Amino acid sequence: MDLFEYQGKQLFARYDIPVSPGGAADSVDDTVAVADRIGYPVVVKAQVHVGGRGKAGGIQLAANAEECRRHATAILGMDIKGHTVGRVWVEQASDIAREYYASFTLDRSAKTHLGMLSAQGGVEIEDVAANNPDAIARIHVDPVEGLTAGQCEEWVDAAGLDPEARSGTIDILTKLWRCYEDADADLVEINPLILTTDGVVRALDAKVTLDGNSVFRHPEYKEYEDTQPRDAREEQAYRKGLQYVGLDGTVGVIANGAGLAMSTVDVVNEVGGKPANFLDIGGGANADVMAGALEVINHDPAVKSIFINIFGGITKGEEVANGIVQALERVAIDSPIVIRLDGTNADEGRAILEPHRSERLRVEPTMLDAARAAVELARHPR
Ligand code: GDP
Ligand code: MN
Repeated sequence: MDLFEYQGKQLFARYDIPVSPGGAADSVDDTVAVADRIGYPVVVKAQVHVGGRGKAGGIQLAANAEECRRHATAILGMDIKGHTVGRVWVEQASDIAREYYASFTLDRSAKTHLGMLSAQGGVEIEDVAANNPDAIARIHVDPVEGLTAGQCEEWVDAAGLDPEARSGTIDILTKLWRCYEDADADLVEINPLILTTDGVVRALDAKVTLDGNSVFRHPEYKEYEDTQPRDAREEQAYRKGLQYVGLDGTVGVIANGAGLAMSTVDVVNEVGGKPANFLDIGGGANADVMAGALEVINHDPAVKSIFINIFGGITKGEEVANGIVQALERVAIDSPIVIRLDGTNADEGRAILEPHRSERLRVEPTMLDAARAAVELARHPR
């Protein structure tokens, strides 16, 4: 779960990590109101889940209300790498002497936490890693021990920051580690971490990814889930509590289990089709869930056929089949449907589907046959 910069900075502030005073705004008038309150000069920053906003024109300095209004008008509604800007963050402008980079993330291959610190910040860290790998000081942080004071000092010294930034950086990294651990983050990144002309170290940007599985420990993360960017289809699925990701093809996909749903997307591609979505309905596959899934897919105008791929496990084939039949009675579906039902009590399940079979409701014996049929129907809709 990715946070917007303003959410990341609000999280940082809770851990006492210094950030510039600011506020979020959704309209031009609100942007100017926030700026008036903070005092000029301010920086107006597009809030989107992609980096490189500066280069794209999504970050602008404003010396007065008139400039602020002009920048807010340009930035709100702007498209940055396919993301439309719906909100800006306005903060007191900083006088930057140096730009550094700092982050904690998971090092999956080393099976532990990784800290990265560099005197070369403000640019993409991937570029630094590729062109000048020695410019990044890396440490592994033991998940039980945590970041120790001695380790942190050695790390900062290894990164070769300016001496005036040393104590401020050690302080921020100590707090950033606490934030990373306590907030159940998978990534906390400050790029740039700045040294101001008057010698203060501060987080000028915030990129935070939280572990979605930790929401039960942090009820306040509901807000972050609610503000995730979604297209109309994804929004509808989210409200129904479905695990849905919109794609740009024509075969609607419903499967039970994330692994099977991913395989289904793959097999549709494999036989030359294009999936319209990923949709995992979980283990249950009862009529309510199936009806909800069919409604979401039916709303997608790009969908030309629907592939329901169910493997009965704990949920038996006949329960799944009854769920599908009841769902179809409740939702009028525009596209032909192809079902593959296998696993526990598959024969009993197929017997229940048998009387409902037609040109518009096909049952195929294997995943591959079903994928071929669904792709064919999407290509030549009847
Ligand atoms: P990103 O491009 O999406 O990573 O956005 P950042 O928040 O990192 O900002 C990009 C760049 O804009 C920074 O590296 C700074 O050079 C510049 N910038 C951002 N805020 C300020 C500010 O308050 N003052 C000045 N002078 N430059 C800023
Ligand atoms: Mn940045």
